[in-house]
Amino acid sequence: MATKRKTALTRIPVLAMRGMMVFPHMVLHFDVGRAKSIAALEKAMLDDQRIFLVAQKDTENEEPAASDLYKVGTIAQVKQVLNLPGDSIRVLVEGERRATLEAIVQEEPFLEADVRPVRASAARQTDDIKALVRATHEFFADYAKSSMRTSQETLRSVTALTKPDLLADTIAANVLTQLEDRQTILEKLDVKERLEALCAILVRETRLSELEKNVQARVKQQIEKNQKDYYLREQIKAIQTELGDKEQNDVEELREKLAKTPVNDEARQKAERELDRVSRMAAGTPEIGVSLTYVEWILDLPWGKTTEDHLDLKRAARVLGRDHYGLTKVKERIIEYLAVLRIKQDMRGPILCFVGPPGVGKTSIVRAIAEAVGRKFVQMSLGGVRDEAEIRGHRRTYVGAIPGRIIEGIKRAGTMNPVFLFDEIDKMSSDYRGDPASALLEVLDAEQNHAFRDHYMELPFDLSHVMFITTANSLDTIPPALLDRLEIIEVPSYTDVEKMEIGRRHLLPKQVKAHGLSEGSVTISKKTMDEIIEGYTREAGVRTLERLIARVVRKAAVEMLNTGEKCVNVTSQKRKEYLGTVQYLREPTEQKSLVGVVNGLAVTDVGGVTLAVECAIMQGTGALQLTGKLGDVMQESARAALSWVREHCDTWGVPAEFFKQHDIHIHVPEGAVPKDGPSAGVAMTTALVSALTGIPVRQEVAMTGEITLRGRVLPIGGLKEKLLAAYRAGLKTVLAPAENRKDLEEIPQNVLNKLQVIFVEQTDEVLRLALTRPLPEAKPESPEIAGLAVPLIQPASTSVRGV
Ligand code: ADP
Repeated sequence: MATKRKTALTRIPVLAMRGMMVFPHMVLHFDVGRAKSIAALEKAMLDDQRIFLVAQKDTENEEPAASDLYKVGTIAQVKQVLNLPGDSIRVLVEGERRATLEAIVQEEPFLEADVRPVRASAARQTDDIKALVRATHEFFADYAKSSMRTSQETLRSVTALTKPDLLADTIAANVLTQLEDRQTILEKLDVKERLEALCAILVRETRLSELEKNVQARVKQQIEKNQKDYYLREQIKAIQTELGDKEQNDVEELREKLAKTPVNDEARQKAERELDRVSRMAAGTPEIGVSLTYVEWILDLPWGKTTEDHLDLKRAARVLGRDHYGLTKVKERIIEYLAVLRIKQDMRGPILCFVGPPGVGKTSIVRAIAEAVGRKFVQMSLGGVRDEAEIRGHRRTYVGAIPGRIIEGIKRAGTMNPVFLFDEIDKMSSDYRGDPASALLEVLDAEQNHAFRDHYMELPFDLSHVMFITTANSLDTIPPALLDRLEIIEVPSYTDVEKMEIGRRHLLPKQVKAHGLSEGSVTISKKTMDEIIEGYTREAGVRTLERLIARVVRKAAVEMLNTGEKCVNVTSQKRKEYLGTVQYLREPTEQKSLVGVVNGLAVTDVGGVTLAVECAIMQGTGALQLTGKLGDVMQESARAALSWVREHCDTWGVPAEFFKQHDIHIHVPEGAVPKDGPSAGVAMTTALVSALTGIPVRQEVAMTGEITLRGRVLPIGGLKEKLLAAYRAGLKTVLAPAENRKDLEEIPQNVLNKLQVIFVEQTDEVLRLALTRPLPEAKPESPEIAGLAVPLIQPASTSVRGV
């Protein structure tokens, strides 16, 4: 509604405002920079300090003309003017009343216009207005709540307002953000219209704020998700670059190394293929590791690297002699072997196999061979190997597959031609996981091993320059096909004298050095060494002795530290202090003659041993029982013994019917240890005869020998081991087959000094020597008694009879 009576026009300077406006009753300060505006201000200050503030439509316009200005503005009073540095001025104004712009009367040097002030409307509060005021308050509250932009202070002052025009203007000035909206409110000269317009704007703004809030929430969510995705993606990228770079670097490194390594064609192809595969794989693929490890294995093998052989036999003999006492025959055989290799100019000889009890120096002599020929040494123990994969490796399809021990050993050696020792070749066994022996055969076979294929490597590797050597404790359990390829060198047990020399010359200095003591600081007299060997060891080799010497050296070291002495001489007294009381006595406790018990002799994995053979006869039906884990050959030999005895028993007054009513039991303790071989034949015969006749057997006598049905004593193997066992057991006499007489030269004199060896040809002689009493005389009706001198090929009925 327009005002009823027009007010008079006023001529007044005009200030065009950019982006802001002043409502009546509002105080505002702002900066003025434009020259025209400053001039207008100056003019106003000269007059009555009143100025017409009107918004320009386009805020960018520097020189607004009459048409650029809105038609409604505010007449304001300038309250304060402050000159700012530069040419601008800060002014403080207070709006007085609305005015309409009627005409611009001057544009230069400042705008001047005729304006018509709007009369302040009479504050008639109609119901309409009241309702509108209330609605405005509500809409404003809604708006404030949803927009969150209104300060508490504004909220409070607006809530307190009741005058409709002032309420509308205050809200417009303080709350509305858009210039157009404010201008709209300024231009509503009628209060009711003004409030209505304001309400519409507030409702619109509230809705917009709600929308905005929703949008914002959604955007925020989206941003958060995006940010999270982005962050994660960046992290993955970082990880991938990190990994990828490293892997690609690895690939490059391996490629370079491959180019420099003289691998064979197949290996090169395989390695290149793997590297290509890796470079195509996405970073972080687990297979990369598998492939790279494989290539590393290929490159780690000693392609083309060899050591030069020294085939100087004198030097070899010196090296072998330096570290090992005795073993003359073994050393001779080794030198012969090396001589043949040298003549052939080819290191592919037969495969040596050192056989002997533990601790006799098999491993250390092989080590010495490696040193003598100037090759690297690697060792692989086959004890307990049952899986072919241990030798040949697992295929790469298995998780965690690695090459077999051969390839691993070659890598360790770092040359293509090391001395490769297979220890305990007799302790290998086969089961469902394949036969390691056949894999080993391939490795040892000179025809095949130039292209040995490991399951993991899947490429041929040349093992033909490797010098393979093996060791075993016994030949019995080596598969025949393998045994066929081996050249056996027996390493016998040591006598006490040999042990004493080894202990003094080699083991003691070695242990003294190993314990960091100075040479000669611990001495052990011959007598004490003898006491140690006799009193604390029962072995074929010198392992226990070496351990005992190490213990003595340790104790001596402690003593030297405690007393400050520079050296210790280990006397008998000290020996007792260091090692405790003697554990073994040389004299056997049981020397009394016994019925049905005979000392047999046998060779086992740990060297020669004495073996008691027991026989018992009891009421029964003629059965023969054999116990003590006897092998087939030993059982057969027991049957042969029984047959011989049955054939001759009537001679000793035992009727043939006796066997129908009696059972015979032969037992060989220790029952859990498997025993085999025919060499206990004489012992079993003697035990049987003693049990039958009740004549005791001399317990200081031991015997060995196979028997025939005709009572002949056949030769046996391992005489030296057996004699040493008898010697160690403190026995006095050994009955041995006559044909073993040739082995006597191997037996050390000191053993022979203590041990009487009697060679026998016939079982009769054995019985005569072993039993404490002669057997009952033969009956005179035995015409064949003269047959003692008859050759053995005679038919059984005419064979030799008892003496
Ligand atoms: P094996 O392989 O036969 O079981 P080792 O080679 O392990 O025996 O020998 C055990 C220890 O005894 C090693 O320290 C070795 O040097 C030493 N030894 C064995 N025989 C002799 C010897 N004849 N001379 C010097 N030392 C020996």
